[in-house]
Amino acid sequence: MHNAGIRKGGKCSVTQKVFWQDPYLTHLDTHITSVSGDDVTVAETIFYAFAGGQESDAGTLGGYVVLQARKDDLEITYTLEPGHDLQPGDRVRMTIDWERRYRLMRLHFAAELVLELVYQMFGPIQKIGAHIAQDKARIDFAWGENISGAFPTILERAHTIIRADHPIISAFSDKALEERYWEITGFARVPCGGTHLRRTGEVGEIELKRKNVGKGKERIEIIVK
Ligand SMILES: [Zn+2]
Repeated sequence: MHNAGIRKGGKCSVTQKVFWQDPYLTHLDTHITSVSGDDVTVAETIFYAFAGGQESDAGTLGGYVVLQARKDDLEITYTLEPGHDLQPGDRVRMTIDWERRYRLMRLHFAAELVLELVYQMFGPIQKIGAHIAQDKARIDFAWGENISGAFPTILERAHTIIRADHPIISAFSDKALEERYWEITGFARVPCGGTHLRRTGEVGEIELKRKNVGKGKERIEIIVK
């Protein structure tokens, strides 16, 4: 967005991702930086746009429902319901559906734990997909055998980490490129640009289900209670 130039000092800049700085904010006052039909950009945002398998938030901007949040490189474009009258420079309040976001954060971290534990147990197993929705998360692997035999061990190890209520560190590995990681005691740093919980205990109890999604493919579904 090269027309998004209304910031202090007149400097062009992409939206500030406050959802990383404080993933627990449910509303934020900011201003519109560009408008193109139903598409707008804002100076600061708490409204996550689908990336790294984590679905977009739901919510409103200036009282209008956000129909879609789209990440293009480092900018995030929000498509509003038709008929808005927002102009660049307008002060707006952004709100997100917190119940949805908090479930996405809990399921995201549950999926991260399961993935790391699968890697620890199966070595060179290949992840071929992952998706975090509000009701459940899933991870797909290229793997020729029924993976559910590992579930009791994965669950036991995951629940030990969850019950220990470790702090989750989430920070930039490269600020200019906006590359992020998370880290907990006992695990290596994991690159991830999602929004993360403060502590592992917030995940709560998890359940796993196996889906056979084709020859040589195994899916693990993750549910939080
Ligand atoms: Zn992640």
